[in-house]
Amino acid sequence: MTEHESTTASSALAWSGPSPYCEIGRNHPRDRHRMKALDGYDLVWSCDRHSVFAKLIDAETASSLKRNDPFPMHDGGEGIITGIGDERGGGTLIYYRAK
Ligand SMILES: [Zn+2]
Repeated sequence: MTEHESTTASSALAWSGPSPYCEIGRNHPRDRHRMKALDGYDLVWSCDRHSVFAKLIDAETASSLKRNDPFPMHDGGEGIITGIGDERGGGTLIYYRAK
């Protein structure tokens, strides 16, 4: 049973549970807060307060990425990776912001 209908067979990623923590909060335990799911995009979260986004991508792709690498934004713009998050749901969480 899947929670979301998948339009492509290629993606095996699935997030379950509450939204991921904001990257800023991960580094500052006293300021822990969760990001919120971004409307219209699967497996993408945003934090309005810090203008950062998170996206779950497959772990293999993520293993070749590192902080400050360019990263395509969910909306097609140019982004930059601010950090690599947890491995979860068959993938890895990538934190990024607009370039
Ligand atoms: Zn935040």
